[in-house]
Amino acid sequence: LKNVNKSYPGAVPLHVLKDVNLQIEKGELVSIMGASGSGKSTLLNILGILDNYDSGEYHLDGILIRNLTENKAADLRNYLIGFVFQSFNLINYKNALENVALPLFYRGISRKKRNALAMEQLERMGMSDRATHLPGELSGGQKQRVAIARALITNPSIILADEPTGALDSKTSKEVMEVFRNLNEEGRTIVIVTHDPGVGEQTNRVIRISDGRIALPDSTITAANQSDIITSAHP
Ligand code: ATP
Ligand code: MG
Repeated sequence: LKNVNKSYPGAVPLHVLKDVNLQIEKGELVSIMGASGSGKSTLLNILGILDNYDSGEYHLDGILIRNLTENKAADLRNYLIGFVFQSFNLINYKNALENVALPLFYRGISRKKRNALAMEQLERMGMSDRATHLPGELSGGQKQRVAIARALITNPSIILADEPTGALDSKTSKEVMEVFRNLNEEGRTIVIVTHDPGVGEQTNRVIRISDGRIALPDSTITAANQSDIITSAHP
């Protein structure tokens, strides 16, 4: 992202992202942290081509993402990106297998093939014995595993997750982070929005956002501050 700005319209427009500059490399595992309302979900939605921005540039895999038609945006999303959400976003009246298979339905893949591929993903998540359970019959961690299996069924190279552990206890949240780390080791780029410093610690880089601005990396701040402190304390 280069100098990306985003406002939400209204009687008084709300300027949410302010000159955001951010580079995420292929294969990174990063988290985005910041206070409630600081613009994390807005940023993630722009990264995921779920929302537009007003000015600046967003390049995804070498493609300038701006003023795309909804069809083109949907194509890029479907081929590159898997989404995971805090509230799982599973369909309550479909069982685990059907939920995981759903993205393939929209691609016109036959039921037999869909189910076979969905079962493979459930197996990877250690969830094959829950394939016929409805979401209401699963624990939070199990629901999130089903949601991750669904995000993976199109084999996306990028996974964007908005508070994926927000509804989970700390033990379950560690297990889900383990899943994300394994997916990263396979070479997938993973961006996780989180409030939980414990989740941030399990990523390789924490991007901090404060009131719509990206804060300097910790290391930069620490190095600069430390030398200031040392210099002033021991002149
Ligand atoms: P949280 O941690 O609570 O999820 P966040 O950092 O994800 O917060 P955003 O959802 O990006 O914050 O919202 C940033 C600001 O933009 C907030 O003040 C919010 O009220 C506002 N906002 C978000 N979505 C919209 C929208 N569709 N229309 C208008 N304002 C919005
Ligand atoms: Mg949010």
